Amino acid sequence: MQETTVFTYRVSLPPREWAKASDTRYAAGDLWTRLVKIHRFCRRRHWPWPTESQLKTHFKRRVPLHSQTVQALIEKFCATIDGVRTKRRNGDKRARYPWRFRRYFNPIFKGQALKIQHQHLLLPLRRGREPIRVHVPKDMPTGMIVQAELGYGEIYLTITREIREPVPAASGKAGGLDIGVIHLGMVSDGTEALAISGRGVRSVKQGRAKAQAKLQKKRTRTKPGSRRRKRLNRARHRGSQKVERVTRNVLHHTANQIVAFCLAYGITILYAGDLGTLNHNKRHRRSRRTNQDVGALEFGRLEQYLAYKLHRHNIQLIKISEAYTSQTCPHCGHLNKVADRTYRCRACGYRAHRDGVGAVNILNKGMHGEIRPGEILVPQRITYRRPVPLRGTLRRSCG
Ligand SMILES: [Zn+2]
Repeated sequence: MQETTVFTYRVSLPPREWAKASDTRYAAGDLWTRLVKIHRFCRRRHWPWPTESQLKTHFKRRVPLHSQTVQALIEKFCATIDGVRTKRRNGDKRARYPWRFRRYFNPIFKGQALKIQHQHLLLPLRRGREPIRVHVPKDMPTGMIVQAELGYGEIYLTITREIREPVPAASGKAGGLDIGVIHLGMVSDGTEALAISGRGVRSVKQGRAKAQAKLQKKRTRTKPGSRRRKRLNRARHRGSQKVERVTRNVLHHTANQIVAFCLAYGITILYAGDLGTLNHNKRHRRSRRTNQDVGALEFGRLEQYLAYKLHRHNIQLIKISEAYTSQTCPHCGHLNKVADRTYRCRACGYRAHRDGVGAVNILNKGMHGEIRPGEILVPQRITYRRPVPLRGTLRRSCG
């Protein structure tokens, strides 16, 4: 049986295409606004609403966009209206028809209109204008590009791939995953372990916090609406966007490495600590500094990425409560307070890597419903990896 997987992929827009992209997004915003106005005009007068084909005929060759883009936007608009109408019919009177006038709107490029030429993706624009050309990376997911959406400085690609339904793995071998700050992920099957460092992201974040504080200080000395204030605002925005891109990349790579580990050791069930419990219980006990480090939000994102990436390989992700998993001694079951990076048991003298203890205890708890002492110990050998090598310059330019 065949199954279709959908990937979304971002490609950043090179500066030489910014002007073209901005014009196109502006034209799309104008089209959207006009659609909103037409629809509102008819609705208020209780006139019949223009149909999709009427709108398409009306706007044909009247908008400085590629004909297929115009059609795609009209289709999107009509789909939105239909959705709202259904909701309103079903009694949800708060559902609102599109009403916002948009200065910019993300134009949509359908698959048929897109071309790939020598590792470059071409987005066609209106007649007589050169298409937008972007280089697509080699490691992009293979498959068919069904749609491209032009965002602010970025292109969002939707790629589909037909995959044969993966054979349900019979091994049923389990692994445990501990998500944390120092190590974004520590995964183990009881004999092997992989730790993915979180220090890189943390330093980038700290750099940002510092830079933001500095900018904020400068900002207080400027007048509202002044050129200087605007410049500082832009700088702040730029900085945080960059951090966002770095973080996203790191989290994706971390998730990929965890999936690769599972595949390499035949893990088909992965237990992970439920982050819901972490927010309520652990956060209070943490210092302010730790809370700033990597927010709970980031853990949630890592988990999200993991969920769909694991699903592609038919690996189950099961969340369990991580209560006591970091404190219980895997050897004798004694509860210890952990102060530093090494776990030391006061009862039996067992020593191991702190995050390793978390991972094997989560595995133990997942398999048995409770932590059975002496069953699964932290592996002797732990592989340490960075999610992605971070360039030194990047760290500096973020703050
Ligand atoms: Zn012990």
